[in-house]
Amino acid sequence: MDAAPRSFAELPRDAELGIPVPFACGTDSYGEQQGRPPAASLLDGRRVTQCALSRVCGICGSGLGRPLAFIGSPEEADRNAFHFPASHLSCARLLLDALADVTAPVIGQTEPIESWVLTTTAAFEYVRPGRDDLDRRPTFQPHEVLTETR
Ligand SMILES: [Zn+2]
Repeated sequence: MDAAPRSFAELPRDAELGIPVPFACGTDSYGEQQGRPPAASLLDGRRVTQCALSRVCGICGSGLGRPLAFIGSPEEADRNAFHFPASHLSCARLLLDALADVTAPVIGQTEPIESWVLTTTAAFEYVRPGRDDLDRRPTFQPHEVLTETR
């Protein structure tokens, strides 16, 4: 099995985009991406679950402290429901920097990176989709938003 990276600098690189592959994108991904090598474009369902249950960073894969950071689209921030797992604030900032020039969809997002929102919180709820939800992906719902950077 692949060992979890321990820092942002140790992340594998996406072969096509040349950017770090966050832990939550790491093994084989959802849908059409399934079975391919690590790629930064989509989320990996098993890793997302692992992040939620083991409380590890969605970017570097090591244990979380506080505050917790969430990055996502304005719509996710407005709904208070993020698809990308919680991360260290420092990792979130490094990832946003690394993605600054990327125009391809990454980490399961379709919104342009410059529109993304960085939210911090102290705690979150991990919510699995209901039987009738069109979106079959689980979400991370911050309990209380501490800061929000748009
Ligand atoms: Zn981290």
